[in-house]
Amino acid sequence: MSSTNAFAGSLFMVVAPSGAGKSTLVNALLAQEPTIKLSISTTTRAPRPGETHGQQYYFTSAEDFVARAKAGEFLEWAEVHGNYYGTSRLMVEEQMATGTDILLEIDWQGARQVKKQFPQAAGIFILPPSIAALEERLNKRATDEPHVITKRLLAAGGEIAHAPEFEYAIINEEFAVALSELTAIVRAARCRFAQQAARNASLFAQLGIHAE
Ligand code: 5GP
Repeated sequence: MSSTNAFAGSLFMVVAPSGAGKSTLVNALLAQEPTIKLSISTTTRAPRPGETHGQQYYFTSAEDFVARAKAGEFLEWAEVHGNYYGTSRLMVEEQMATGTDILLEIDWQGARQVKKQFPQAAGIFILPPSIAALEERLNKRATDEPHVITKRLLAAGGEIAHAPEFEYAIINEEFAVALSELTAIVRAARCRFAQQAARNASLFAQLGIHAE
């Protein structure tokens, strides 16, 4: 199995129940840290208004998805809210080998699969400040039908039950605080010895430092 030791890039997994404000936080992080690349997942979910193939997701049929999953194309994949979602193994490994940091916006099932293959991947769980705030954010999101919102609210409880599996927890009460915490995690991960050694191989050689 691969390990992040072989890659100069770091791998981040950001997981949250719907309505915790994950995408807004992640987008702000990406705008501020342009060296991190967001992995674009493949899904069988129908595009929402305003979503474009290749931007938010690669949209495909269930038949195509299952065939690709069987062929091992996905680093991880899972069924979430009745649709399949998966992360391209090739994209993640190629980018990380060139020193690019990759961020995965996935669910807890996917995070578990990634952790088995990349034990050093940083797992970050975003929590809402209260159940009431979560409900309010889901209701305000006009893109989903009411029955979809109910389904997501029920699923939120299930997702939160897996929060203890993650190294980091961010409570998204005040956006600026949550963003600075997320940034701190990312910057600390970049300073891990293995990542520094991989990114600065010639300096480490000059200094006579030999990674174990
Ligand atoms: P949405 O349909 O709202 O964009 O995403 C629904 C859920 O699917 C979110 O929890 C999101 O994190 C998760 N998800 C999106 N892409 C992936 C993926 O590639 N793998 C896994 N396991 N979950 C994903």
